[in-house]
Amino acid sequence: MTVSEVRRKYLDFFQSKGHIIVPSSSLVPENDPTTLFTGSGMQPMVPYLLGQSHPQGKRIVDSQKCFRSQDIEEVGDNRHTTFFEMLGNWSLGDYWKEEQLSWVFAFLTKEIGIPKEKLSVTCFEGDEKLGIPRDTESAEIWERLGIPKERIYFYSAKKNWWSRAGVPENMPVGEPGGADSEIFYQFTQVVHDPAFGEKCHPNCDCGRFMEIGNSVFMEYRKTENGFEKLPQRNVDFGGGLERITTARNDSSDVFTIDVFAPLIQKLAELSGKNYTDTAYTHSFRTVAEHLRASVFLIADGASPSNTDQGYFTRRLLRRAVRHLDLLGIGADTLSSLVEPVVSAYTDAYPSLPQKSDVITSEIGNEEHKFRKTLDMGLKEFSQMAEKSLDKMLSSADAFMLFSSYGLPIDMIKDLAPEKGLTVDTSGFEKELENHHVVSRAGLEKKFKGGLADTSEMSVKYHTATHLLHQALRDVLGDEVGQKGSNITPERLRFDFSFGRKMTDEEKKKVEDIVNAKIKADLPMQRVVMPRAEAEKSGALHFFGEKYGDEVSVYFIGDLLPTAYSKEFCGGPHVTNTGVLGTFKIQKEEAVSAGVRRIKAQLM
Ligand SMILES: [Zn+2]
Ligand SMILES: [Zn+2]
Repeated sequence: MTVSEVRRKYLDFFQSKGHIIVPSSSLVPENDPTTLFTGSGMQPMVPYLLGQSHPQGKRIVDSQKCFRSQDIEEVGDNRHTTFFEMLGNWSLGDYWKEEQLSWVFAFLTKEIGIPKEKLSVTCFEGDEKLGIPRDTESAEIWERLGIPKERIYFYSAKKNWWSRAGVPENMPVGEPGGADSEIFYQFTQVVHDPAFGEKCHPNCDCGRFMEIGNSVFMEYRKTENGFEKLPQRNVDFGGGLERITTARNDSSDVFTIDVFAPLIQKLAELSGKNYTDTAYTHSFRTVAEHLRASVFLIADGASPSNTDQGYFTRRLLRRAVRHLDLLGIGADTLSSLVEPVVSAYTDAYPSLPQKSDVITSEIGNEEHKFRKTLDMGLKEFSQMAEKSLDKMLSSADAFMLFSSYGLPIDMIKDLAPEKGLTVDTSGFEKELENHHVVSRAGLEKKFKGGLADTSEMSVKYHTATHLLHQALRDVLGDEVGQKGSNITPERLRFDFSFGRKMTDEEKKKVEDIVNAKIKADLPMQRVVMPRAEAEKSGALHFFGEKYGDEVSVYFIGDLLPTAYSKEFCGGPHVTNTGVLGTFKIQKEEAVSAGVRRIKAQLM
């Protein structure tokens, strides 16, 4: 079966059970300063899991694009990918365990035909201290569905408890969570490796078991002295589309699925090498995976750069170039791999072909640019080799090649012996560790202000962004449209289409308008309405594919028809503009041809 077939069958099946299909959100979350990427299907659903009513109702199903940067170094084995799709179905205060487990089981076994003999499941063993019972309810349902007792496993909170903060002990007061029940596929052709323990079981890392889905039963909230039941209990299912497809085909190698096959084949043609030749398998997989991820990242606005999301696209592409070289494929070939990815995804992401030219040229440019710094880096590398008396590449030098010339780490390690050098590996690892600590600290900063309090300032900046958007249109004309938005608790950043630099006078005018609207203390209100009606109201909207038939519109003013600002938006926002303070534009600059960027603060 193909990825498209499995995705389609999943969406159709849950639609037949009363679910509304919603399109995938962007890989780059909008107006969310807390994370760089959408890393799970649940992430865009958090407001609704916490009680906000979803415009599409209580039963939602989707296939969400996800990217996990922390897995970059893991790519190359048979199962890790940085980009994947997560199939998700949600009950927002509606059905519960009986329906959920029966439906997921029916989807896996009947709809796509995975033999039930290959499935094992896990349940939460309970925690007396916390007053949370063992999940015998799920276990009984599984047994009734046809999973024998010996393939139903119980694990502690470390494996079978879900909250955004992890195990119950780590949850802040007020945080929701609950037990979950995972489904594993067993590759009977993989023999258990005793290095991982005496007996094999679903959470063994030997490769015999692969998790293909998880149903979270969110029913508790942490309190000062334990847990209480939430007023609304939710079900949240997430299952990796690629993994489910791989399991369906009973292959233990995720790179055998149809979306990778044309890439692997093209690489084989270009290189004359064999995918199954273990000297090259790792490189085949790395190029295919990183290229596919980059296509989706660039399509969602994360063009290669040195900061934020773009930094990861750059890293992926550079690693891909490195592995192209290891396969012996010449320069300027990376961009020729874009087309096979786009074709494989056109039915699910119909706007992808329109972006194909831009993606191809950005990937081509990035390869070109990297090969230039690569040449300089290699020259520098040679000089270091000549200068080195002890024939050691010092950790500082190695790190310089990495940080200044962008040479991937594995490349430095590989090339050193060719230049007659030994790498000070332990020093280099330490240097790297420091670097990782620094970048982690950077990430933590992004997480701070976090979801828990959805930082009050971030919410204010979000409302200010709507005011700014309309004020820009008032002053510069209707050609102004949102191209991007990024908010931190310290400032807002707004990218918009406009052909030239703004004059000081124009900037002043925009500031004055925004401040007047703040002073007027206008109410910010939300309505949910049919999409066509919302469009007719004149509400601004920019992310075409993302909206369903019912949309949420935020407007600033007493009534929608006369409101000062109207936008398709998921929130959150302040209730009145009066709380925003004084608005000040700090900077106005070009981002690219026809796109300007404003950074502004509230004082
Ligand atoms: Zn095992
Ligand atoms: Zn908004």
